[in-house]
Amino acid sequence: MSLTVVGSIAYDTVRTPFGERQRMLGGAATHFALAASFFDEVRPVGPVGDDFTDEDLAILATRGTSTDDVERVAGGKTFFWEGEYGWDLNSRETIDTQLNVFETFQPKLSAAARACDVLFLANIQPQLQLDVLEACDGPRFTAMDSMNLWIDIARDDLVKVIERVDCVILNDAELRQLTEKPNLVSAAREVLKWGPSVVVAKQGEYGAALVTGESFFALPAYPLETVVDPTGAGDTFAGGFVGWLAKNAEDTPSDAALRQAMAYGTALASYNVEEFGMERVTRLTLDEVHDRVEAIRDLTQFTVEVR
Ligand code: AMP
Repeated sequence: MSLTVVGSIAYDTVRTPFGERQRMLGGAATHFALAASFFDEVRPVGPVGDDFTDEDLAILATRGTSTDDVERVAGGKTFFWEGEYGWDLNSRETIDTQLNVFETFQPKLSAAARACDVLFLANIQPQLQLDVLEACDGPRFTAMDSMNLWIDIARDDLVKVIERVDCVILNDAELRQLTEKPNLVSAAREVLKWGPSVVVAKQGEYGAALVTGESFFALPAYPLETVVDPTGAGDTFAGGFVGWLAKNAEDTPSDAALRQAMAYGTALASYNVEEFGMERVTRLTLDEVHDRVEAIRDLTQFTVEVR
């Protein structure tokens, strides 16, 4: 079993009220891979420049992730993103985005990457997501993420991707922007009409909501008192969610499986934000992940008497 992911592999400069990191390892595919590697063999697809260090490639390879489909572009520069958070960490401003090697990248997937049984299209240009979707042999489950930038400048391509995947994982505000529906449930139901059978709305510190044709489920975030850097929380959630499904679910995951996957995504995302970048998830253990899922289960037990 294997899980192919395409998305940014990046250097990030991040400022939060707790400090700053210059050009640390980041990227949507990187955060996703670090989380999903607990559950499956992950194959990130994407380019890096000659500025990308062997140490960072080794971090991407954590827990057996294959870096065979990471292409080093001679003379090129790695994707760069710079962001700054407000005092309560709920608002974030993008200061700079440089696509660099992603601007002209044409994916050439290895046979192993094409033969994946689960595919995740992490955040990157929708055209590139489409190219990778086309190249794969027919994964049994496909999921995707995106962001406001691509809704603004490449909406038509983005809709083409959405029409072809099983599961869409987007921020709450992005779902509303994409569908032009101010109400989250209507926005999710609109996306379900376009083709996918599962929509996950990420809601930052408030958790995530799961919408399918038949059901609605919401899970709060794990209540942390200290959040240091929220960068990559969404991708780490997606890595836990999709990775858990890749290992444990049927081709068409049941509601019970989707809810369990939500708990794993939530647990992994909560660890990610405790430190900058990949620092915490790189040295995380599966026992710690299970412990936090147990804690989430204990915290959210809800029985109500109707009388
Ligand atoms: P998140 O905090 O989950 O939204 O993800 C943050 C990660 O997304 C960072 O590590 C960035 O490198 C990456 N990122 C930021 N902007 C883009 C973009 N336009 N396309 C692809 N990845 C991006």
